[in-house]
Amino acid sequence: MSLDSLHDLYVEELRDLYNAESQLLKALPKMAKAASAPELRAAFEEHLAVTEGQVERLDQIFESLGERPTGKKCVAMEGLIEEGKELMKEDAAPAVLDAALIAAAQRVEHYEMAGYGCVRTYARLFGFDDAAELLQATLNEEGDADHKLTELAESVINVEAEEEGEEKEPPRRPASKRKSAAGRAR
Ligand code: FE
Ligand code: ZN
Ligand code: FE
Ligand code: FE
Repeated sequence: MSLDSLHDLYVEELRDLYNAESQLLKALPKMAKAASAPELRAAFEEHLAVTEGQVERLDQIFESLGERPTGKKCVAMEGLIEEGKELMKEDAAPAVLDAALIAAAQRVEHYEMAGYGCVRTYARLFGFDDAAELLQATLNEEGDADHKLTELAESVINVEAEEEGEEKEPPRRPASKRKSAAGRAR
């Protein structure tokens, strides 16, 4: 597609976000399943419901533009989710995996915040006040999710992971484990 105007870019970035959210609808249930701490699992499940609402907001915006939301793949979100999948394949202690899931999820939230911040600003510049409001609402939700993840990291998860590491992890990983971990990473 050719980007001849800022309006074209606006639509294209909205499509990127639409695809990113669609990918997350599939990834979040897997992340919830992989989480051990009940609060973390609940946070992923809650954000799945929030994400469904965000897709509806985008649908509304596309309808008002008379454009289709499909036709673009967000390769950045694909990469972020892929990194999360790699983590879930690791042979990690549950609390350490929780910390890793939080780190992966926060990368996702920040990516979304950057994307929604841009399209919100474009919508304002065009005078699309309703769309700007919808996009700002989603931007706020992504920010809330990010803060919630920081709270989870500060309260239970990372402390538990550290304690577990001190008690159970030998100072050096055995050679066999290093080898298998490296093998999986490839
Ligand atoms: Fe989202
Ligand atoms: Zn993207
Ligand atoms: Fe970087
Ligand atoms: Fe999000």
